[in-house]
Amino acid sequence: MPVERTEQRGADELHKYYEVHETIGSGGFAKVKLGRHILTGEKVAIKVMNKKDLGDDLPRVKVEIEAMKNLSHQHVCRLYQVIETSTHIFMVLEYCPGGELFDYIIAKDRLSEEETRVFFRQIVSAMAYVHSQGYAHRDLKPENLLIDEDHNLKLIDFGLCAKPKGGLGYELMTCCGSPAYAAPELIQGKAYIGSEADVWSMGVLLYALLCGYLPFDDDNCMALFRKIARGTYDNPHWLSPGSILLLNQMMQVDPKRRLTVRQLLDHPWVMKDYNSPVEWYSKQPLGYIDEDCITEMAVNMKRSRNSTTALVNEWRYDHTSATYLLLLSKKQRGKPVRLRPEPAVCEDLCSPLHQGLQTKEALHFSEDEDAVIVGSLDFGSDYIDDCPWDSVTQHTPVGVRGWLDGVSSNKDTRLVSPSVQNRCAYSQTPERGRTTSYHQERRDHEQASENKENLAVQEKDVDIFVLPHPRTPASCKKDARPNKNVLTTPNQNVKVHGSKASAVTPKGGGSTSKEHSKKRAVENKEPANTEILAFSPERRSRSLDMAVTGDSGKKKRSGKMFGSLERGLDKVITMLTPSKRRALRDGPRKIKAQYNVTLTSQTNPDQVLNQILSILPEKSVDFTLKGYTLKCRTWGDFGKVTLAFELEVCLLQRPEVVGVRRKRLKGDAWVYKHLVEDILSTSSL
Ligand code: ADP
Repeated sequence: MPVERTEQRGADELHKYYEVHETIGSGGFAKVKLGRHILTGEKVAIKVMNKKDLGDDLPRVKVEIEAMKNLSHQHVCRLYQVIETSTHIFMVLEYCPGGELFDYIIAKDRLSEEETRVFFRQIVSAMAYVHSQGYAHRDLKPENLLIDEDHNLKLIDFGLCAKPKGGLGYELMTCCGSPAYAAPELIQGKAYIGSEADVWSMGVLLYALLCGYLPFDDDNCMALFRKIARGTYDNPHWLSPGSILLLNQMMQVDPKRRLTVRQLLDHPWVMKDYNSPVEWYSKQPLGYIDEDCITEMAVNMKRSRNSTTALVNEWRYDHTSATYLLLLSKKQRGKPVRLRPEPAVCEDLCSPLHQGLQTKEALHFSEDEDAVIVGSLDFGSDYIDDCPWDSVTQHTPVGVRGWLDGVSSNKDTRLVSPSVQNRCAYSQTPERGRTTSYHQERRDHEQASENKENLAVQEKDVDIFVLPHPRTPASCKKDARPNKNVLTTPNQNVKVHGSKASAVTPKGGGSTSKEHSKKRAVENKEPANTEILAFSPERRSRSLDMAVTGDSGKKKRSGKMFGSLERGLDKVITMLTPSKRRALRDGPRKIKAQYNVTLTSQTNPDQVLNQILSILPEKSVDFTLKGYTLKCRTWGDFGKVTLAFELEVCLLQRPEVVGVRRKRLKGDAWVYKHLVEDILSTSSL
């Protein structure tokens, strides 16, 4: 089948069954969007991966998909459907609206021992199950634990998991995961047992829950590795003797002296106040067939119950699997086991709403990720770097066997990124990007070693993904993101984005040259103080929103610029569509106090917004202002986005003060924590 048709069919498949909304998260190579399964009305998370960006990490996605197909547990995020096109892979997942455990911890500073225990029991439950299925997760950290609507944890990100051939007792060699959570034997490049390394990471995680910071932390990677190898950390005064003992038993440098997950199940600290061991068996075993769900599907599909059961039993992770699993999930949550009648899908697709939001061009994914977006909160496809290899080779700091091996002090210098915070490049680089770099260097030594460790990866399955066309260095260069000055180039930063003409252009070139010259004419008439009314030229064609963009350019640091912000905003407002005008004039959203909202002592939202705006350039943060939401980014070397997050000024009812809602979208969680704390405290709110 021609590539275009496969492509179109994959995209159609997604939009036929799902509404696709805004980006809710972003990882190394994936963007995660909120979606709604049309037949059941259930919300889902759609993980979007561009194969071109995945490059050599494509097999990892396969590992993740295979693992998730084999795991079904109350504390593991459920996979519903996989859709593949020639350029993209979409994973439809259980939606966890509560965000990452990481954000929850930092919002609360640290958790009480009681609350920690609730979460930790769920982590132990998930890990006991994962291990019982023969998998080691190998990337346990609070960013990979999401909170669902019932405030329960769900484990995600199985891209680095391993299923050793001979069982979990067999040794692994691949050094992976996040350095701060990595076990000593792993960073030393020794052969290690996956489940033992997971217990170490669980110890680090437990410490982070109880303390709100990491046991082993350093801006310099070598220093960090030395601390991990020594295995010494502080025990702050608030830790109970029981917590200190448990942490010590989990963070034993010698893996043989470490507790096992089995021992954790009924550990005295874990049992305290519960008096019962952790229940780790699956309450939703794989392959379970529910008669009510089958009946509803059979009626909907106008098939017999037998043939519907047979279809579901194929477990192809297609729309049938998704419909069945989502119906089952509805039933388990006490919702009616009902599907919208089939024709409704067509009605939906043919409805003006659907057509308006999902035009034919918009269904094409080849270049512009954002073309699929229905919501307005999206940041743009710049989260998925155009040319990962460029940055990958620049961040190739590790030794052949382990992080500690063969890393000379020279290499160590290369680890240190000169961007926002002087932390190691690993931390600044999205996880997958980092592990890619590791593999870049290892590739010659251990061809495809990752997959050899996975029994789950059958040879015959290897071809299920169509590889993207190889990228030539030239095409990489052409596509590569310009350096961070893209937002500050003098003759580009005075742009006012005409709302309609370019907004509806789904891809590529965007505005015509005529439009450009019109814009230039408008720009030239703007007085100097409107220079912050800029948007990234790269976003011109895809942004549906009028945006007011700031940058970190030195010349914009004066207070004068921000003093002129409101006047500038007025100018933009006159060019906005009515709804956008409303967004700015209606004022900030009124929300309830939540854990991800920082309360201020102020009552004037504009003042708070201006205070934050005046700080961002000092912290080298690029931003786009939309209403009262600041979409912020920091850039690393080679034009790579290192952090992306939102700050929204909003009004709270009780107490009646202004709050700032925070949301991390991409980048190292701890770097984000420090930066946002810094911004909010310097803004003297
Ligand atoms: P990657 O594999 O690229 O690291 P992740 O799977 O870690 O991507 O997802 C990136 C982010 O997207 C997560 O940290 C989380 O914030 C968000 N996310 C992922 N899966 C879900 C989900 N099922 N529900 C809600 N948010 C999710």
